[in-house]
Amino acid sequence: MLEVDGSHGEGGGQLLRMAIALSVLTEQPIRVARIRAGRKNPGLAAQHATAVGALAKMCDAKVDGLRIGSSTITVQPGKIRPGAYSFDVGTAGSVTLVLQALIPVAAAAPGPVRLRVVGGTDVPWSPPADFFARVFLPLLRRVGGRVEVEVMRRGYYPRGGGIVETVVQPTREWSPLEFTELGKVERVRGIAHVANLPEEIPRRMKHAATRRLHGLADVKIEERIYRGEDAVGQGGALVLWAETDATVLGSDSLARRGASSEQVGEEAAGSLRAEIESGSTFDVHLTDQLLVYLARATGPSTFCTRQISGHLDTMMWLLPQFLPCRFGVANEGPRMRVSVEPRA
Ligand code: ATP
Repeated sequence: MLEVDGSHGEGGGQLLRMAIALSVLTEQPIRVARIRAGRKNPGLAAQHATAVGALAKMCDAKVDGLRIGSSTITVQPGKIRPGAYSFDVGTAGSVTLVLQALIPVAAAAPGPVRLRVVGGTDVPWSPPADFFARVFLPLLRRVGGRVEVEVMRRGYYPRGGGIVETVVQPTREWSPLEFTELGKVERVRGIAHVANLPEEIPRRMKHAATRRLHGLADVKIEERIYRGEDAVGQGGALVLWAETDATVLGSDSLARRGASSEQVGEEAAGSLRAEIESGSTFDVHLTDQLLVYLARATGPSTFCTRQISGHLDTMMWLLPQFLPCRFGVANEGPRMRVSVEPRA
């Protein structure tokens, strides 16, 4: 049985979720100990327990230690089954983080997988729903992913209740990416949304972001207001993405108490500018999210990022424990070049 130290590196939910997903993908039994040991609330929280329970269900795994607060978990994976699944985090735990763990597994099923996940769609420290749909999925498709998503209802902290539905078609082979040049920024797009909050907020976020993006080609930010059946609770986000002839770079910021709409707009726009100016080909959040696919691609990949995040570092440590793969990092001044060698 493979033993994984859940407190290594970033030592959070991502390590745990991806360790279990990799155990299922490679059919290796696993024990993860010291789960989230360095966090304020160590052990499994609702979102992590939902992700692990969902992974187990998709392959009829035998699991020990699956309860909120648990610090050790063992999983004996089975064969991945296609079909329709529905999972509810029960809190505002992030839907997109649950999907982050389920999609690689669903894509390895011998048939289509439908996933309906209920929880938070736009919550802190996770990809907002529009980042997931407009930045992560387009790049996942570039490496061979066949995933459609629909946000049926938005959900926020503390109640959750958002609903995201995805359909994942099987991917037999993942394609490598040679992403060393950012290329020319052709357009910048964005979605500024709120739910059950004043209508002026998305407009103010949009104006602040547009000012900060001055000088970039073709900037268009859509304003959206959700009410009634379309959202549970109050919240909002600004998600921006720059499309170049080579890649998509994303950034985001959540509407929140204590931050003005202008601040939210400037944060997202400021980080998009920083991404572009560094010449990165993947934004700082995307890198760890795509690594599980690139590490299993049919050939080597290269991408550039302005910073090696703790999450990326942790994935570079985790993946070789399951799969033959190797990573290299070279400092190129404003950006880091990361190389991925599967089957190394
Ligand atoms: P913990 O509760 O232990 O902090 P977690 O399950 O909430 O864990 P992390 O382990 O911190 O999550 O992983 C967060 C994931 O969300 C990473 O894949 C990271 O790239 C992604 N992420 C975090 N913030 C953003 C953001 N603003 N935009 C896009 N992706 C993000």
